[in-house]
Amino acid sequence: MTREEFIGIYRSIVPEHAYREVNGVGIYTIPAFSAFPGIDHGFSARTGGVSTGCFSSLNLSFTRPEQRENVMENYRIFCAAANIPVDSMVMDAYEHGTTVLCVDRNDNRRGYDRPALPPCDGLVTDDPEVTLITGHADCMAFYFYDPVRKCIGLCHAGWRGALDRIGSEVIHTMQTACGSDPKDIECGVGPSICPKCFEVGDDVAELFEIAFPVCTLLGVNRRGRATVDLWQVAAAQFLECGVRPEHIHLSGVCTFEDTRLYSHRRDKGKTGGMAAYLRLLDHTDC
Ligand SMILES: [Zn+2]
Repeated sequence: MTREEFIGIYRSIVPEHAYREVNGVGIYTIPAFSAFPGIDHGFSARTGGVSTGCFSSLNLSFTRPEQRENVMENYRIFCAAANIPVDSMVMDAYEHGTTVLCVDRNDNRRGYDRPALPPCDGLVTDDPEVTLITGHADCMAFYFYDPVRKCIGLCHAGWRGALDRIGSEVIHTMQTACGSDPKDIECGVGPSICPKCFEVGDDVAELFEIAFPVCTLLGVNRRGRATVDLWQVAAAQFLECGVRPEHIHLSGVCTFEDTRLYSHRRDKGKTGGMAAYLRLLDHTDC
């Protein structure tokens, strides 16, 4: 893939999202993913929960300095609004790495009210009794769905994970564990810090430029500082793996700019966290 080819493909991807509120709980979705009858997915906003102060109000991060019971109650509220069985949740234990774990119903509630999984930023399953959950507060959520092999993947992709190609790791795991062909895999990117808001030091900018030479991912903001387009980084690693251009879907929502979302950077670390979720729907019992 040349630089010109990549930019042509990237420009053809039109970001699209939907937003709804159920009992005051906000949920973002990617319309292309909503159109698949075999899955349910979404991304939480910060509205409708019980947390107060800088965590107000639907903090879904257990790693923040907040009472665990508040976060557990927020998950109960969110699951009711999003129609997720609480018992089906399996949560990542992110460390900004590239470890991807395959999980099934034996892992249900891990990270919620059962011991957390070993450190991992990505999860893969073909079990319809599992809802994959990952935590975010500017970092990208990558959603993966293979409608042929009926398996899914979800990962937390901060800048380090994105740089180290956590997205490729999830696709490789789906290939080896589920027999997926990358040509069948649909990829989505949830709400996350946008190309214009993600300011970095020159050292980080250089790392991205070296790792993703096909992208035109560097910019300069109004303060004269370098910016990195992480959404290009996402698309580039999906394409490298053999994902079809028309199977790449960006939400285009910026956590830094949208005040319905927590943003680690905007709120200078004093903030809550959102959750991405993805599950297979079992139509055999319909
Ligand atoms: Zn932005």
